[in-house]
Amino acid sequence: MSNNLVIVESPTKAKTIGKILGDDFKVLSSMGHIIDLPAKKLGVDVEDDFKPDYTVIPGRKKIMAQLKKEAKSAKNIYIATDPDREGEAIGWQIKEKILKGKNVLRVSFHEITPHAVAEAFKHAREFDHKMIEAQVGRRVLDRLVGYFLSPLLWKKIARGLSAGRVQSVGLRLIVERERLIQKFVASEYWEIEACLFKPKVSGESNFSAKLEKIDNQKAQVKDSQIAQIICRELEAEEFKVTQVKKSKKNRYPSAPFITSTMQQEAFNKLRFNASKTMLVAQQLYEGINIGQDNPVGLITYMRTDSPHVAAEAIGEVRQHIERSFGKDFLPEKPNVFKAKKSAQEAHEAIRPSYIGRSPESLKSFLTHDQYRLYELIYNRFLSSQMVPAEFLATAVDITAGKYLFAANGSHLVFEGFLAAYNNKNDEEENEEAEDKEKVKNVIPPLEQGEVLALQGLNPSQHFTKPPPRYSDSSLIKALEEEGIGRPSTYAPIIYTIILRDYVRRIKGYLHPSELGFKVNDMLVEYFPKILDVSFTASIEEELDEVEEGNLSRNKVLKEFYLPFKESLDFAQAHIVKEVITTDQVCDKCGKPLIVKWGRRGKFLSCSGFPECKNSKSITSGVKCPQENCGGELIERRSKRGFFYGCSNFPQCTFTSRTLPADQGAGPEDEAK
Ligand SMILES: [Zn+2]
Ligand SMILES: [Zn+2]
Repeated sequence: MSNNLVIVESPTKAKTIGKILGDDFKVLSSMGHIIDLPAKKLGVDVEDDFKPDYTVIPGRKKIMAQLKKEAKSAKNIYIATDPDREGEAIGWQIKEKILKGKNVLRVSFHEITPHAVAEAFKHAREFDHKMIEAQVGRRVLDRLVGYFLSPLLWKKIARGLSAGRVQSVGLRLIVERERLIQKFVASEYWEIEACLFKPKVSGESNFSAKLEKIDNQKAQVKDSQIAQIICRELEAEEFKVTQVKKSKKNRYPSAPFITSTMQQEAFNKLRFNASKTMLVAQQLYEGINIGQDNPVGLITYMRTDSPHVAAEAIGEVRQHIERSFGKDFLPEKPNVFKAKKSAQEAHEAIRPSYIGRSPESLKSFLTHDQYRLYELIYNRFLSSQMVPAEFLATAVDITAGKYLFAANGSHLVFEGFLAAYNNKNDEEENEEAEDKEKVKNVIPPLEQGEVLALQGLNPSQHFTKPPPRYSDSSLIKALEEEGIGRPSTYAPIIYTIILRDYVRRIKGYLHPSELGFKVNDMLVEYFPKILDVSFTASIEEELDEVEEGNLSRNKVLKEFYLPFKESLDFAQAHIVKEVITTDQVCDKCGKPLIVKWGRRGKFLSCSGFPECKNSKSITSGVKCPQENCGGELIERRSKRGFFYGCSNFPQCTFTSRTLPADQGAGPEDEAK
């Protein structure tokens, strides 16, 4: 009979910790949340200081009874939920609702390793009420918004829709970007490239230079006619080197991952969407079977905004770098990365829990996705403690009459941290025209005053581009920059707006749906303050202040609720159902058909409803690819998100996430 009971939130984590703690400890999993605000009521007493009414989630009675029974015979009870606000709050609610009166201590660790777990138990502590207050504050805010806004969406657009506090702001960013794209008018411009070489030297000395200035003004070539005139003039000019600048440039390694940077890089390098990245990271954190040593927690906790690394881990990675790469790759002192103001020093960056476990050595124990993410985390961490890469950059000015050309080249002198990890992505490199040239352009040794031979001129047509749509990666970056994302919210924000079909992820980019536009426009019109990016950022900051103990939860809630209530009262009095007319008429009664939104998507309904119940689907015009079906594909929504279904349903059950004409969206595109 073990005297010690440990409660965690997941079965895998229970297994990993159980193995570390041994027979004196019984480790039980709560199998996720046991306690939450009630699903069908507001569950917040607005009049009584926003008191939340936490209750046991229906269906969790059995696990609750088991925890109670085990707790009876245990001498010591520990709660070892995840080391963040949410984990602290889950643990506290278990103590309050199920183990009331028992002596329950909190243990928290950022990695599930024997050392970290032992340390945590040595420092078992009371619950951190400031953290819990911040979490309850967030939960209550989100509940108020969801509970009151959703019915307004039902009233105006369709039943079953829902709005969330931070998700709606995320949706707003995506909708506003789409409107910029719609409004964008492309304009034409031309670039002129000269291919030059050193006369008397073989063809190997070819390099290219770009027209930068005309008469000392930035070159602006608007159309092909002007480009032709310039080229004709240039053919008669002498190309002369007027300046050669050589400089040593260092590229520095990036900090080890925090949640936001891991999600961005996993999207850019592995094409993982944010939810998938978090799912796989959680598996690596909670424990993986790796032979006789199983299961083992392979990385530190994946929800963090601090790049801080434990001194011990720094010592280990430095030894590893020296052994595997050599002394030249090891900086004299460890690299230190600064956290954002809001980040907590107690948190740690995401890194491998043991640097000796190379990705290669674990390959046979990991799924393909686990392997790729582990490799990314491992190499990023390794590179963060290495020396910079050194480049020799050459910048050459070449004059031809009134025209000035520039040639830029660079070559790697010492690879440094790049030996472990490239912290730039192809897309980023292409965006920086300078870098692009550096990649392909090899400039031969040149001297000032030297005359070059012209091999050819290459004028090329370009158009200015609209701002790109957000991807998971760039949206997370924007949310972080705007101050409205937190480690625990980036992935759920994207997941939720896709699940509700407000946004569709097509070929990795986030497109607002027609429904998304509608929902956003209503929210922005009636709740400008709640949908305001900087207001949301200030609320997030205040929740951080609650966690620091500098502000009371109640103050934040009041500050939010008063303007919210005002907008709410106005909206409740003024919002009416919107009628979208069409030029089609009902084939049963002759009245006009109108567009309606239902639980499963958009459809045409007779305006004579309820007297005439005639309705029709709106098809995409694309034929069902099923043989001998003859149906057409229709936009549908389900609990699992958006899809296309066949108009001959239920006879034909064809479904697809994309229209057959729109192939290539890829398997990462569904909300999972
Ligand atoms: Zn009708
Ligand atoms: Zn069909």
